Amino acid sequence: MTPEQLEKKVKETLRKVKLSKKERILVALSGGKDSSVTACLLKKFGYDIEGFHIDLKIGKYSKECLASVKKLCKQLDIKLHIYDIKKEMGSGMCYLRSAVQSKHKKGMLKNCAICGVIKKWILNKEARRLKAKAIATGHHLDDEVQIFMTNIFKGSPELSANSGPISRNIKNKKLVPRIKPLFYVFEDDIREFSKKQKLPVNYDKCPCAIDSYRIQVRGFINTLSRKEKENIMKNAEEVLKKLKSKGSEIQYCGLCGELSRKRICKKCELMR
Ligand code: SF4
Ligand SMILES: [Zn+2]
Repeated sequence: MTPEQLEKKVKETLRKVKLSKKERILVALSGGKDSSVTACLLKKFGYDIEGFHIDLKIGKYSKECLASVKKLCKQLDIKLHIYDIKKEMGSGMCYLRSAVQSKHKKGMLKNCAICGVIKKWILNKEARRLKAKAIATGHHLDDEVQIFMTNIFKGSPELSANSGPISRNIKNKKLVPRIKPLFYVFEDDIREFSKKQKLPVNYDKCPCAIDSYRIQVRGFINTLSRKEKENIMKNAEEVLKKLKSKGSEIQYCGLCGELSRKRICKKCELMR
């Protein structure tokens, strides 16, 4: 795919989600290629963006991610907000995660599952505090196929019900909508684009991504052709239109006040 074709695809997705150029969007920047390309394109298309990075304090990896994010924001001339997890939550992600795992049955809670819940909680809360109208993430087509298939394999397709280029089904004043400009773009094309554009990206893998079920599913998805992945996506979109999220009743967490499907939100449930 040429850079022009990729840009065209992303523009079509942005039209589909009706993203306004007048409203401030926070781009969740990890330092990796996907979120860097997301920021690069939104800026190029004239959107009002700011960067948001969660410094997870995972040793050398996090230091390199932070350096990449700082360089990117300087290059794109956008404001960067850094959330230092150690300062805000008392410890780095490795310690927080071990503390959670030691309280739960061994092997039940995977690294990425815990980290993902905590990051999602931070992102929504901080985006609201910064008065952003939307959060843009770097999720791409391969991610979405992996998530959809993981939920199918687990027998819970309804967990994908809120998926799409824009978060749907839940409307709540405390929820900042999430958009995924790269939703219809293959990961390989994003990697190629980031290299052609010479974006300051950390291509290393997170050292903690070692044991998730999704990584096993990714191995399987990587054996599929582009056509097969696209077919899964098309079918997923059709199925998801008809699905309602499980227990779609939204309430506020009794401990932190954030959105939750239960009396206590997932993050507080893990960390209390
Ligand atoms: S790969 Fe897993 S552990 Fe590493 S930052 Fe991502 S979610 Fe967290
Ligand atoms: Zn909570």
